[in-house]
Amino acid sequence: MADRDTDILLIGGGIASAMAAATLRAEGFEGSILLAGRELDPPYHRPPASKGYLRGHESKDDALVHPSGWWEEQGVELLTRTSVMALDTGARTAKLSTKEEVGYGQALLATGAMVRRLSVDGAQLDGIHYLRALGNADTIRGDVDGAERVVCVGGSYIGSEVAASLTELGKRVTILMQEAHPLERQFGARAAARFRAILEAHGIEIAGDDEVERFEAATPGVCDAGRVARVVTKGGRTFECGAVVCGVGAQPDVMLARRAGLALGDLGGVRCDSRLRTSAEQVFAAGDICEYDSVVHGRVVRIEHEEVAAAQGATAARNMLGADAPHDVVPYFFSDLSDWASLEYVGPAAAWDEEVVRGDVDGGAFAIWYLEGGRVRAMLSVGGAGDVDRASALIASGEPVGATGVPA
Ligand SMILES: Cc1cc2nc3c(=O)[nH]c(=O)nc-3n(C[C@H](O)[C@H](O)[C@H](O)COP(=O)(O)OP(=O)(O)OC[C@H]3O[C@@H](n4cnc5c(N)ncnc54)[C@H](O)[C@@H]3O)c2cc1C
Repeated sequence: MADRDTDILLIGGGIASAMAAATLRAEGFEGSILLAGRELDPPYHRPPASKGYLRGHESKDDALVHPSGWWEEQGVELLTRTSVMALDTGARTAKLSTKEEVGYGQALLATGAMVRRLSVDGAQLDGIHYLRALGNADTIRGDVDGAERVVCVGGSYIGSEVAASLTELGKRVTILMQEAHPLERQFGARAAARFRAILEAHGIEIAGDDEVERFEAATPGVCDAGRVARVVTKGGRTFECGAVVCGVGAQPDVMLARRAGLALGDLGGVRCDSRLRTSAEQVFAAGDICEYDSVVHGRVVRIEHEEVAAAQGATAARNMLGADAPHDVVPYFFSDLSDWASLEYVGPAAAWDEEVVRGDVDGGAFAIWYLEGGRVRAMLSVGGAGDVDRASALIASGEPVGATGVPA
């Protein structure tokens, strides 16, 4: 017998759960909603953690998904610092870290992702950071204060964004990465060469086609105690530094889902159908853990982006209320390299055989349309040069348009 009951249990305190709560109320749901999240803070937007918040331009309040007071006003019970330890999908009960057992009618699993950690010699030295939460950004900002040089490991969004932000804070930054150019895996070589040029123009050193072999403390060869003083690469290079920030990917946090016996997918997430229903009765999933049958892409996808998590939280909420609608929102993503470049992307393209460029890829604003067999699979817009709505419509339609059908 549970200690108490809730109509809807939202598990995880990120954007997906927060948007599910908002959608339930906006759709007129009057039943009880309980959100349990592990972190100290109410749900907040993570993107500022590598951008404005890291640079000190945005506050924690600015980053909140809902302003303080919203939860009470909306009659949504918010339990921060509370983990769901176990889920019994047969009995429809959840055990909380507070020892309370809660019975639920429907549940949303939105436990997000965890950073991937490097396991190389010296990985435990002081001054090596990972970034997932606002608290990590606080630590990094404090810790790099005394460092003149910082190495950012990883050439994806986090590595590139953090490199830009720390440069704005007066640090000399090196990006060390496996790719030749930053953001190449996401956007291809042409766009990536431009992003590299933007970062280099602001003094960032790019060390591509290489990776970390070990971190060393001040005494050469010492990797097991003290503070990081240099990064030694597999390619034989050495970068002296006072701090390191690693952005080497994330992995979906499916620990609770696995323990609860939910079906997991090949992409590492919780396997869902097109309605975002998991394999358990009345349990939905959304956000970074959600691996779903996408009616837009005609394949299974799992995406780690803020707007996607928000949109999936909304879809799951509507389906809890009986909408029985597939999640058909074309995934949208944004990123900023400080104030130097703002980019938006719709897609994602699993593969493409043609890039159609609009605008000035070597200088000003530009867009790249990614086509496969004449069909638009994705579009990257830098500086607002591309029509995101039009691209989303073309991606969703799946109709062949060819290069001539790409908007000017
Ligand atoms: C530094 C950074 C910058 C980013 N920048 C961008 C960007 O510019 N653009 C973009 O589109 N995306 C960006 N992202 C990605 C985006 O933030 C994520 O896709 C999004 O936060 C996913 O939301 P979510 O609700 O699925 O999970 P999360 O935000 O990870 O939230 C899940 C929460 O659930 C908690 N939790 C886990 N297990 C349990 C449990 N058992 N019980 C209770 N709580 C639990 C976790 O602690 C976490 O607080 C960025 C991410 C990071 C880390």
